[in-house]
Amino acid sequence: MTEQHKPLLAIKGITKIYDVGDTKLDVLKGINLTIEEGEFVAIMGPSGSGKSTLMHILGLLDRPSGGVYEIYGQNVLKFDDNRTAFLRSKIIGFVFQQYNLLNKMTACDNVALPMIYSGGTNKVERAKKLLESVGLSERIFHKPNQLSGGQQQRVAIARALVNEPKIIFADEPTGNLASAQSDEIMQILTDLNKKGISVILVTHEPDIAQWANRVITIKDGQVVSDTKKTETEKIQHNPLKIHKDSSRLSVAEFSENFFSAIRAILANKTRSILTMLGIIIGVASIISMLALGTGAQQSLEKQIKSMGTNLLYLMPGRISVGGVAGSVVRRITLEDVDALASNTELVKNIDPTVSGNVQVVYGNKNTNTSLTGATTAYQYMQNAVPEYGRFFTNTENNNSAKVCVIGATVVKNLFGDQEPVGKYIKINRKQFRVIGILPVKGAQGPRDGDDIIIVPLNTAMKRLLGTRYVSSVSVEVQEGKIDETEKYLLATMLERNKLGADQADSFRIRNMSDMIQMLSSTTKTMTMLLGSVAGISLIVGGIGIMNIMLVSVSERTREIGLRKAIGATKTAVLLQFLIESSALSVMGGFFGVALGVLISFAVSKFAGWAAFVSGFSVFLSVSFSVCVGIVFGLWPAKKASELSPIEALRSE
Ligand code: ADP
Ligand code: MG
Repeated sequence: MTEQHKPLLAIKGITKIYDVGDTKLDVLKGINLTIEEGEFVAIMGPSGSGKSTLMHILGLLDRPSGGVYEIYGQNVLKFDDNRTAFLRSKIIGFVFQQYNLLNKMTACDNVALPMIYSGGTNKVERAKKLLESVGLSERIFHKPNQLSGGQQQRVAIARALVNEPKIIFADEPTGNLASAQSDEIMQILTDLNKKGISVILVTHEPDIAQWANRVITIKDGQVVSDTKKTETEKIQHNPLKIHKDSSRLSVAEFSENFFSAIRAILANKTRSILTMLGIIIGVASIISMLALGTGAQQSLEKQIKSMGTNLLYLMPGRISVGGVAGSVVRRITLEDVDALASNTELVKNIDPTVSGNVQVVYGNKNTNTSLTGATTAYQYMQNAVPEYGRFFTNTENNNSAKVCVIGATVVKNLFGDQEPVGKYIKINRKQFRVIGILPVKGAQGPRDGDDIIIVPLNTAMKRLLGTRYVSSVSVEVQEGKIDETEKYLLATMLERNKLGADQADSFRIRNMSDMIQMLSSTTKTMTMLLGSVAGISLIVGGIGIMNIMLVSVSERTREIGLRKAIGATKTAVLLQFLIESSALSVMGGFFGVALGVLISFAVSKFAGWAAFVSGFSVFLSVSFSVCVGIVFGLWPAKKASELSPIEALRSE
């Protein structure tokens, strides 16, 4: 023994106190032990004496309540997570009574798993070799549930050996096995010890303890005996370099994490689909809702713009006459219109119109539609210059010519695919020539803006509707004279009808800028409403994601425990879950966008609503869902990764 000799491990005054409710359980009461490299030690003792507790502390799977633990003279209880993970990975191999294999992986992958964290090369080759050395060359690609207990334990031993540890801890490795299988396992451990690996095993069976060279007995948390069969030679090894370059992530580690994430997603198809469903619904709803809201807003804005902002509408009003039931309707004549038009300072253009419903026949087709009689000014003031054919002329109006311009719906109803211009149709049984087709307006609120026939005003008044009065007058106002003109129109009409200012209700004047304000505030309300509905569904989707993620991670706390036990750092565990939850959320987000776009198109196609999918809504909804997915996947994983490995392994 040289002066610098440092034993493989040395513990001094190790205690462990469990809090059970209000009482404290003193399980280990100051244990002192020194174990040299190359020893084969069996720890014995009755059930409940604290053997497993001691092993977990020795294997760095749990922390003692007090005492000192040195490996090669270094106080490992002071090590940070990275260096502790390095020890678990490179120095220690742990064999559990319950094997703790990952059931979704083959024997080969289970054995290779610790190498992800230690960065070994030729993983599969090494894993196969080790499986052969424990007599499992026929079972390399079997999954744990296809193996017997003894075979599973041999896989677990191979896994413990994969990083060439200095020491193997085995907690009742044969506890679940029949005696023939027990002997095989003990033979393997003995052979390993002969190759220089220290073996420390826990057992309560004297038969098993016999395989060891040194037997330590524990009772009530204290060492009561320590006997050696033969003295082992103390070997001095090179001082141990303990390091782990944790900040860098190896490609191997990343790709293993990536594929294990994909494997986990595929292995739990139902759950993965449910998780994604939350994201899909959230994303799809916000995209389609905002698409409809934006579409509605855009089409209203277009409509408003097409109406022009410098228009006033004059219509007869209804006033009730002093308490008498009933009302008097004031009327507007063509003479009134001429009088109004005479003030060219204010009135730029004027278009008196009449309207009514008519029956229209072409061949064996007939339809009911609304008729408007107008002047030639109509085509400019209402953006109604025909795209096919022409509008009627002043001469045709003056002559009450039987010509008409028809809207797209009327074309569809009467002509189908035929060319209408030049054809004759019957309006209220009178023959009219179709001279033009109006530009398409689309729906105007509940009304179809294309279900319309325009004829010259005089023709409508004399030949079709038989009236001397106009229904309304559209006035195009000179630039910037809206308010003035509004007053002028009303004053003139009152004066011509010999009415006082108290009877201003006799006429109604609608100002387009009022209309615009009203309409745009309506659209704003609608978009806000749609947006908040979408927002709610996104939150509901988020809660769904959150819930599934919480379940998913808590189900896998044991797996997290095992990964830590074989050398994963906290960062590695977190990374794995980060990859998994982002893969899920991104996939869900992608399907959600597809579904949302599909819904928007379907609604705009079948319901005829305008829809516009904006990049902003895609970005907003996808990033929100992905964030929810990641945060609620990572948060529980972080909690689990902060548990000691043994706490995580114990969780159900
Ligand atoms: P052994 O392996 O020798 O059978 P353990 O080390 O597993 O014994 O347990 C020793 C004692 O500590 C037992 O009385 C057990 O009930 C208690 N114990 C073990 N783990 C916990 C725990 N996580 N919380 C509270 N008590 C525990
Ligand atoms: Mg035990």
